[in-house]
Formats: sequence, structure tokens, C-alpha cells
Amino acid sequence: MSDEKELVAHREFREDEFWREIPAWKDISREEFADHKWQAKNSIIKLKHVKEILGSRVREETLLDIEKALEIAPMNVRMTPYLFSLINWDDPANDPLRRQFLPFASQMLPNHPFYMEDSLHEDVDSPVGMLTHRYPDKVLFLPLTTCPVYCAYCTRSRIIGGSTATVEKDTYGAKPKLWDDVFQYLRSNPQVEDVVISGGDAFNLQASQIKYIGESLLDIPNIRRIRYATKGIAILPMKILTDDDWVKALSDVAKLGRDKGKSVVIHTHFSSPREITGWSKLAMERLFSEGILVRNQAVLQSDVNNDAEIMTLMTRQLGYINIQPYYVYMHDMVPNCERFRTTLEEGVELEKAVRGTTAGFNTPRFVCDVPGGGGKRNIASYEYYDKETGISVWRAPEVKPGQLFLYFDPIHKLAAYAQKRWGIEKERKVMVRDALSRVEPDLGSLNTEKLRERFGINI
Ligand code: SF4
Repeated sequence: MSDEKELVAHREFREDEFWREIPAWKDISREEFADHKWQAKNSIIKLKHVKEILGSRVREETLLDIEKALEIAPMNVRMTPYLFSLINWDDPANDPLRRQFLPFASQMLPNHPFYMEDSLHEDVDSPVGMLTHRYPDKVLFLPLTTCPVYCAYCTRSRIIGGSTATVEKDTYGAKPKLWDDVFQYLRSNPQVEDVVISGGDAFNLQASQIKYIGESLLDIPNIRRIRYATKGIAILPMKILTDDDWVKALSDVAKLGRDKGKSVVIHTHFSSPREITGWSKLAMERLFSEGILVRNQAVLQSDVNNDAEIMTLMTRQLGYINIQPYYVYMHDMVPNCERFRTTLEEGVELEKAVRGTTAGFNTPRFVCDVPGGGGKRNIASYEYYDKETGISVWRAPEVKPGQLFLYFDPIHKLAAYAQKRWGIEKERKVMVRDALSRVEPDLGSLNTEKLRERFGINI
């Protein structure tokens, strides 16, 4: 590509009828495909749908690979036809979208020895059901635990979506009566100003529920900012284009917020340029014209976006369609996600590569949400990082004063010598203690019990 072409590559979006390459949808018109109800009704939720929809375009080995993966995966499958037909089914093994939503057993890796079910301590920092309160002025409200798609890498795989063969979950849909306890808590905690409405996905809230939550929160004097979190724009932009009631509800809440001098925004979740099409652009044109600000939170993932060119392209595409690239997260240390994780060094290098390619306000902050509830830390703000052992040590002075936090690179990405050390339990202790003592010399001598108490890791 010439330099000039490369500079404007982020302005080109797929406009073709790509879904017609999928055997079952070859006769589906643009109007039908554009209908969010058609998308929801035809979502892929079982392995047999993959076979029925793709017919001879999918190999038996591929189906077997998925079947085996679903026997151990913590997330169920749910994909919209839009997302499913953006996958390159001639090479599914290497496709970044397939990788994120449809697991292959052949690509799975053993969990890191120090993985955590609730890596971000959301359950621990929960003063009332459906609410996490960690930062003084901000809370996370989970009004439901369902989504229009299920991401194989979901950080809340312990609670999101239905139970799987290996994980029992108390999945809950929207129950407005139970939300009143949350509103009451926020009223009696005047230091809270900021509410993230996540889950679960706001796309699965009905229009009346979007309004009820929005109006209830905006009615609380101390609440100044609310954010609806949804992956919807990335995987079902048709809803923004054809669900007028839902968009109106959101728009009414945003207007009410403006009238009260409060901010109402959407946080969405694109992680690959391949998710961004002409449909995304149209959806964003509508939200933009309604005056609704959208920010993006991407997750850094191996073979999805851990490449400077891909990350830069996505950043510039998002900016072009008026989505502010806000965060790129290091992958959390949750179960069944080792294949997605990158080293901290990769994250630091990518941040360097992306910075300077577009305006500063449209440059994402690369962060590590440190295990144990330290919150999001700037990716280069670790106290200590040993690239050889992959161990980094962090502080979060304003969140949990005096505490240290540990993050670990995925073992399969370390040098052979370090991988071998990780295989020996005694060596793990030596490596962790060494890293800790570089930050606080006394910590190097902690016994196993104390290490478990302080860092939640089982050595
Ligand atoms: S949309 Fe968000 S909450 Fe839902 S499965 Fe994906 S990452 Fe998890």
C-alpha cells in the first residue's frame, strides 16, 4: 500500500453483502439482515447451528474441535449472524473474530497457576447485591447477567451467560424490583458520583428498563455521570438502526442528563478492526446525531490485536466514526483464557507504537486491571517487572493503600528456561519472593500462608 493509501485506510469500511457467502443466508436481503429482531432470532447458540448454517463450508474436524472446547469452556456460545458472517470460514483457525467467540479445544492452554475466578475482586468489594464499590466515587452496577453475544474471554465468566458443562452460574435477567436496593445504597453514599451500568449488556435491557435505570440514577443528587456498557454496537449495530424504542429511551435519558447538567454516555467494546464495518458507521452516525458520546474499551488479545498495525488501524477507525478509543486492557488472569493473554512487554510496546498516530484524546490508555482489586493501572506504572519470569509488582496507593499486587505474563510466552522454572513449585516461590523483595525487601521472606493471605495466590 502506498503511504497515501495507508493514511486513509481507516476510512474504508465493508459495504458488501458479506452474509450471502454463508450458505444458509445466501438469499437473505439487506432489509432482513438489517432487522435486529431477525438477528436475535437467528443467533447461533448451539454447535448444531454452526453445522446447519455453514453446511459443507465447515470441516468435520473443526466441528469436533469446537465440540471438545465446549465441554470445558466457562462461556456458552452466542453469536449474532452479523458477527458470524464476518468470520473468514476459509481459515477459521486464524480468524480473530472466530477466536474471540467460538473456542477451539486445540488452541486452549492450561490456566496460569495463579489465575483467579474473580480476578478483579468484584465480588469481594460488593456492599449490596449487583453492585461493586471499589473507588470512592465510582460504582459498577450489574443489573443483569445476559448479553446478545458471549465472548470466550469474558472476565466475568463466573457469572455471565448460562451454566456450562463446567461452570454453574446463577444467571439473572433484568429484575427491576431488585434494583431499588442499589439506588438506595447510592442515595445513602453521597461520595458516589459515577455509575457504570454493565453486566451483562445494556443491549439486553428493554427500552423501559433503560429509562427506569437512567431516570432513577439521574434523580439521585450525588450521581453526576452514568455509562451504559454494551458490546452491542460492535456485534449488533442493527439494533441502533432499527430498534427505535431502545434508541429513543437512551436518547431521552441522555437529554434528561444534559438538562440536569449530568453526563450519560455509552461504553462499547470493539477489539478488532474486523468488527468495524459500514453498519458500525451508520449506527454511530445515528448515536452521534442524538448527541450520545461513545467510548471504546478494547481487550489486548494474542492473534486478535497484538500487532502495531492492527491496533493503530482500529484506533484510527474508531476515531473516524466518532468513537473515542478509551482503554486497551491487558487481559485479566481469569480461567480458560491463557491463549488470549499477552506479556506486559507486548502491551508496553504496543502503547508506544500507537501513541503519536492520531490525536492524544483519541489515543487509548493501555492499562492493567491488577488482580486482587487494585483497579486499572497505567501499563508502564509497575513498581517492578522481570521480563524473564514474567512477574510484575504493582501498587494502587489511592485504592488500597499499602498493598502490593502481582500480575503474571502467560507462561507459554516466556523463554524455555523460565517455562521450566514455572513447572517446579519450589522455583515459583523463589521467583515470586524475589520479585516482591525488589519492591519491599521484607516481603521476600513471607511464608506460603502469608503470601496466600496477602495476594490470594496458592503457592
Ligand atoms: S459482552 Fe461483555 S459481559 Fe458480555 S460476554 Fe462479552 S465481555 Fe462478557
